[in-house]
Amino acid sequence: MPVAHLKAGSAPSKQRAAAGIGPARHMEDELRAQNERFSAAVENMSHGLCMFDAEERMIICNRNYIDIFRLDARMMKPGIRFFDILLHSVDIGIASQSADELYAIRKPYIDGAKASTYEEILSDGRIIVISHRPLAVGGWVSIYEDVTEHRRAEEELKEQHRLFDAALANMSQGLLMYSAEGRLIVRNKRFLDLCNARAADFKLGMTHRQMLDKLVRLRIFVPIEIDAEVARTKACLQAGQPRSSYRELVDGRTLFVSRRPLSGGGWVATFEDVTERRRTEERMTHLAHHDALTGLPNRSMFRERLDMALERETVMPFAIFSLDLDRFKAVNDTWGHPAGDWLLRSVAERLRRCLRNETDLVARFGGDEFVVMQFNFRGIADAEKLAKRIVEAVARPFRDKNREMHVGVSLGIVTFPNDGSDADTLLKNADTALYRAKSEGRNLYRFFEPGMDAILQARRALEVDLETALPRQEFELAFQPIMNIASGDIIGAEALLRWHSPARGIVAPEDFIPVAEETGMIVSLGDWALRNACAAAATWPPGLRVAVNASAVQLGSEGFARGVISALAFSGIPASQLELEITETVLMDESKTVLKTLRQLRELGIRIALDDFGTGYSSLGYLRRFPVDKIKIDRSFTRDMRNRDTAAIVRTIIELGMELGIVVTAEGVETEAQLDMLRHHGCIEAQGYLIGAPSKAADIQRLLTSRALHSQTG
Ligand code: C2E
Ligand code: MG
Ligand code: MG
Repeated sequence: MPVAHLKAGSAPSKQRAAAGIGPARHMEDELRAQNERFSAAVENMSHGLCMFDAEERMIICNRNYIDIFRLDARMMKPGIRFFDILLHSVDIGIASQSADELYAIRKPYIDGAKASTYEEILSDGRIIVISHRPLAVGGWVSIYEDVTEHRRAEEELKEQHRLFDAALANMSQGLLMYSAEGRLIVRNKRFLDLCNARAADFKLGMTHRQMLDKLVRLRIFVPIEIDAEVARTKACLQAGQPRSSYRELVDGRTLFVSRRPLSGGGWVATFEDVTERRRTEERMTHLAHHDALTGLPNRSMFRERLDMALERETVMPFAIFSLDLDRFKAVNDTWGHPAGDWLLRSVAERLRRCLRNETDLVARFGGDEFVVMQFNFRGIADAEKLAKRIVEAVARPFRDKNREMHVGVSLGIVTFPNDGSDADTLLKNADTALYRAKSEGRNLYRFFEPGMDAILQARRALEVDLETALPRQEFELAFQPIMNIASGDIIGAEALLRWHSPARGIVAPEDFIPVAEETGMIVSLGDWALRNACAAAATWPPGLRVAVNASAVQLGSEGFARGVISALAFSGIPASQLELEITETVLMDESKTVLKTLRQLRELGIRIALDDFGTGYSSLGYLRRFPVDKIKIDRSFTRDMRNRDTAAIVRTIIELGMELGIVVTAEGVETEAQLDMLRHHGCIEAQGYLIGAPSKAADIQRLLTSRALHSQTG
């Protein structure tokens, strides 16, 4: 260790030592001991140290100093000049500047009287902090500290802070960090943005409770129970559990807040704006539970509600209404699907308004099927009231732009617990009651009755039988003659369907035609009737007309006109010999395609007769809609002609026909008196048992042929 003894006390101690005096010797020992302690202290310093005298010669330096500058220990003997040390450090390449430059830097410190600190950067990049202190006796002492590591750590920390700040500032989530003491220590800008708040509102150091309180007071969060919230968060975090929840904001947005405990105590809370995601989610669940067209709950949601109602512990009676629109298909066919959609939406809206009770529910099951659930149901009278309201609401015309649509609704009603204890049974029975309502007419409601099942099953059985009746050739046509009243001549015959069912016997058209219409089977059955009627007419004397009934369903079906033309072509009879009997419902359909079809057929020379006139709605209006060739007064009027009012109606129809140049035929003429009356009023044609009952094709053919011969010979 290059240590020089302190000069200050060296001369007197030497003298004392030379004199050999006891106390002087003692002092010398003392001094040596002091020097040794000093050397040991210097040597054990954690920093480098170097002391110079007034002549800039080194007095003492420690090992750390030599190590810091990687100096040659052998050179570092006391007495070496400061400048030589600088030269040496340049020689060994540790200095990053020349000795002169280094000296020039140091010189002001050496000459100055003030303690100061400066840095030197070595050629290997290390940073040395040098504390310079002048000594009272001249010279100075320098303390050297290698701060390279320290600085690097500091830089790293700074960099980390910078990155952390950047990350915080750029987070899409708001972030708050609380210390173990529960005080706010970090808060990013995004949090303030999310809350539309100022930094001053949420100062660091605030407690969780203060934060929540402020968020509510500034009308950012919708009011919450702050104590409970603080307690919940605390409990979770103490248990080491994360906690997340939704927070509703006053402006309608929703934040998702998630809190995680930190390993050193405290926690971090992140805030995410999930308004859009939530809305999408809500929309998705809404979609899954609602009908897209009308926005009403759909079948699956209805089932959920029904199941919930059934699972209640105490029995709460309720009613279910199964609804089906009447004539909806006609609207769709007439006006097109967009209009049908509009109508369904309008119906949905009216149904919604019919419900008086918040808890009541109307759902759309699809197509024109709706279901209503009525709670708070005290008895049949309640259900009846609602049913009437619904029927009236839907019966009112639907007006859209310049269209006016008329539909109706049929309802089947079940009540819980009377009509079933489970969802399936209740819905099935409601459908059964609906079926009944529909078969009894339109715009009706029917409560379920136990026997209805059987009726429904019977009806299903009829459908099944009817389905196979055509291929099994169980149908036959009967023909009923039609007479010109003035001349008494038979001018033709109407073809009427007869079903000989092996299981049921003869089934009346009134019993199977509505079923065939509903199942759509009437299309093929009607086509069969048309072909066979035309084929039969081909065997009749020329000029005789065959009348064939055509239902609305047939006319609305595609290819009807083609079927008629092909029936004519196959039979070979002229178009003028065929008469199609349609009912008012056909014209009521307002369908452009139906009217177009009729017009097309009429242009071919086929005659169009309006059947069952007077039984429908406002018949006269439809005559303007489509010019028919013939009106057939319904047999119910003929039968009732003795009644003065009825007679007046019949007379009016006949006069109307004369005025419009339309042939009028009276149906169901059974007595001479009826025929006389009709003749008297100027009715042109008559049909009925008096003239001839419907008979087999062969019989009618014989009758027509003999009459023709008779009139030729007579
Ligand atoms: P409609 O076209 O009005 O046929 C006349 C109905 O009156 C026939 O009943 C006929 O038997 C009955 N009738 C004839 N004269 C008299 C009489 O003097 N007194 C009484 N009380 N009734 C008389 P039917 O054959 O039972 O047919 C009933 C309805 O079935 C027909 O009424 C028609 O609407 C429909 N229909 C019959 N055949 C067909 C068909 O091939 N296609 C279609 N779409 N409907 C048909
Ligand atoms: Mg008819
Ligand atoms: Mg008729």
